[in-house]
Formats: sequence, structure tokens, C-alpha cells
Amino acid sequence: MKIDWPRLRAAAADVAGRAYAPYSRLHVGAAGLTADGLVVTGCNVENASFGLTLCAECGLVSALHATPSASGSAPPVLVAVAVVAGDGDPLLPCGRCRQLLLEAGGPELLVDTAGGPVPLAELLPAAFGGADLSARREPGAAASL
Ligand SMILES: [Zn+2]
Repeated sequence: MKIDWPRLRAAAADVAGRAYAPYSRLHVGAAGLTADGLVVTGCNVENASFGLTLCAECGLVSALHATPSASGSAPPVLVAVAVVAGDGDPLLPCGRCRQLLLEAGGPELLVDTAGGPVPLAELLPAAFGGADLSARREPGAAASL
């Protein structure tokens, strides 16, 4: 799949303009491309309690799950993500968001950086994932959790 990085970065810059960031004044936008060719976006949403602040990637992943997949698989799978600050330049996802993006696109998800796209596995090596849960779960533990 050919990834139009300038278009993805522009979509991230556009949504960064809608960020709610009165405390840090760091407006962040994230745009992700799905395997279906859809572009989903998110922006950061701060909160006076700070701990409740949502990164732009949180909004993107929420939008991803809210978006019906053209192929019928739900949710759509991310293949590329661009995150930018209000100035339009790339911004790397924080640790929490790298973990969120891992479950949304896997280790091969391409992340835009100032030096070009890199697989998420390079930004989150030795990641913790769902397989770790199933491998280390106590026998008889509730499987529905
Ligand atoms: Zn984050």
C-alpha cells in the first residue's frame, strides 16, 4: 500500500487545530491510515486534573474503533500514523500511546518521524501485549476480563 505521508501529516496538522490544550498550549493532532484506506484522526484533550488528559493518539484510536471497517473486520487496522504538533512538524507518541497504537496496528505500523517513517517495533521494543496476558494468566482466572 502506498502511503501518502504529506496527506497524512496534513490531516494531523488540521486536527491539531481543534485540540483542547489550554494548559500546555501544545496542540497535537494524529492521523492514521487504515488498511481499508480510511483516514482517522484525533487531537489532544486536556483536563484541569492533568491525569485525565487525552493524547491525540487516544482520540485517534477511539475514532478507529468507532469507524466501521469497509472489509467487515472490526475495528479497521492502522497501517500508518502521523502525529504533529501545532507547528506541523512530527511529534513522537508518548509511551502510553505507543502501547495503544500497538494494539491498533501491530509492530509493523509505520510511524512518521522527522527522519522518516519507522515501524512501531523500533519505538516500542520488547512490547507487552495480549499474548503476555494469556501466557501468564493464573489458571482459572476469569477469561472474560
Ligand atoms: Zn500519548
